[in-house]
Amino acid sequence: MTVIGLGRMGQALAGALLKAGHPTTVWNRTASKADQLVAEGALPAPAVGDALKSSPLTIVCVTDYQAMYELLGTSDVELGGTTLVNLTSGTSAQAREAAQWAEQHDAHYLDGAIMAVPSAIGTADAVILHSGPQADFEAHKSTLDALGTVTHLGADHGLTSLYDVAGLAMMWSVLNAWLQGTALLRTAGVDAATYAPFAQQIAAGVAEWLPACAEQIDSGSFPAEVSALETDARAMAHLIEESEAAGVNAELPRLLKAMADRSIASGHGGEQYPVLIEEFGKPRGD
Ligand code: NAP
Repeated sequence: MTVIGLGRMGQALAGALLKAGHPTTVWNRTASKADQLVAEGALPAPAVGDALKSSPLTIVCVTDYQAMYELLGTSDVELGGTTLVNLTSGTSAQAREAAQWAEQHDAHYLDGAIMAVPSAIGTADAVILHSGPQADFEAHKSTLDALGTVTHLGADHGLTSLYDVAGLAMMWSVLNAWLQGTALLRTAGVDAATYAPFAQQIAAGVAEWLPACAEQIDSGSFPAEVSALETDARAMAHLIEESEAAGVNAELPRLLKAMADRSIASGHGGEQYPVLIEEFGKPRGD
């Protein structure tokens, strides 16, 4: 197979393929970045078109979609019959557009998202998501397996980018909630390391609730089996009050309370927290 784009991530991808014993052709705009991989057994292609021609499967990993089009969208590059696996980060709209572009050039196209750092590539810890035709994924799964834990999400090419940002939303929300609590506790002389194990326990406990919350969302019914949204909103007021009194930033809890208040004003105060999905599902907060 071929790897185009040998930045931090592309080098890790090509390295994992070589380590798994796959003959690998490589190409990068700055040719010197291929040197180490060539020393490890990779075949350097003289031009991007040659790199594509040398294998039925080409992995592309460059800065953004614009860079991919600059590389592969020129008239002297032949894409017909190739399977492109694009592991460049982008949006779902860019992924769907790229799939149409590939189809117009008679290429098979899978979009991908890498939810890992370069050092994890080639291990089970590297979660790599793919979307596009199932048959194209199955045809190359045994090769892609060398990169990490690979999953096919569905035929819609936009799914990988959506899962990617959904995962980031989760990550930032957990980190931001922890930072809020840490900032508050530091005003009472509690350091971050002391609070971290308690926060870890809370985060893991809340994560356990997700399947039951999902059932409520998917059924559209939110009985207050554990607590009502108006109870949560009262506790949010305490968080805002504590933050303001301690001179800690209260923007985030105020935003959360504003969403809960809007939901309560719409008559959902007696329902359970996941009813807020209706607020999250709106384009703007009004
Ligand atoms: P990087 O180290 O900055 O490498 C960027 C690569 O893109 C280089 O190979 C560069 O070529 C190439 N490139 C950029 N513009 C180009 C153009 N106009 N024409 C040809 N080649 C061009 O970035 P990276 O960390 O490898 O990231 C690559 C992709 O992986 C990004 O979409 C990133 O979001 C994604 N990703 C990275 C990580 C991570 O932890 N690094 C994690 C998940 C996802 P030159 O070497 O010639 O400049």
